[in-house]
Amino acid sequence: MAAELTSQQVLREWLFTILGERGGSMPAARALTEMERRYGELLSDGDWSLTKRGDESKWWNRTRFERKNMERAKLLVPASQSRGVWTLTEAGWGEYRKIADIALIVERAEEPKASIRLPGQPVGQKFPARAEEMTQRVIRSTAVAEYIKRIHGHICQICGIRLITPKGAYAEAAHIQALGRPHTGPDVAANVLCLCPNHHVLFDFGALAISDDLSVTDQSSGFSLGYLREVPGHEVGREYLAYHRSHHARVRDVPEV
Ligand SMILES: [Zn+2]
Repeated sequence: MAAELTSQQVLREWLFTILGERGGSMPAARALTEMERRYGELLSDGDWSLTKRGDESKWWNRTRFERKNMERAKLLVPASQSRGVWTLTEAGWGEYRKIADIALIVERAEEPKASIRLPGQPVGQKFPARAEEMTQRVIRSTAVAEYIKRIHGHICQICGIRLITPKGAYAEAAHIQALGRPHTGPDVAANVLCLCPNHHVLFDFGALAISDDLSVTDQSSGFSLGYLREVPGHEVGREYLAYHRSHHARVRDVPEV
């Protein structure tokens, strides 16, 4: 039976991650529930044992304790002002971004060196199916793509759905102005959207257009699908949206081969 308790530092990082990904604030009970949903598998039996008072698990208690430490370090708004809603301060946001960046560096260290190979440029391989999957992974696993998915909590900016898989939440980073020729869009956050696979495909095929006010229109029916969801820390580049609209307006009348 694993009795070691999850360290205060780790609890702090989890709390930062949850708050940062959800726009910076959350009622206390929701934050704890969300931490449990996300990190529950990593908690030990010791974490789940009750405190001496017997009214809550040790990890809940220790997370509350950590929240106080964070408040003292001015990373969270004082409880007296926030009425039970745990809220990041400006300094807290800075800390969250640092944690998100470190998580990226660790993840990327385990991946093959990212070299952009564009579609149409065969990698050359003995096992085509596997290599094809690999190519896609390399293209998509840039720091920018991971940042965008993380900051949106893997929630699609169009439909608001987050796909949950046994390996965690899944979303795709969709470049607005495509990276490949002839578009040669930049790999920057402003040129990336966090989308579910369906909306990614529809967007890439020009079935959806996004206006400067971020309203989304289904091009085949003309119906509005509402507004693109936004989070702090991710400003969508209007110039890239304009490029996407004008590119697809140009190619719309050309039949697909
Ligand atoms: Zn979607």
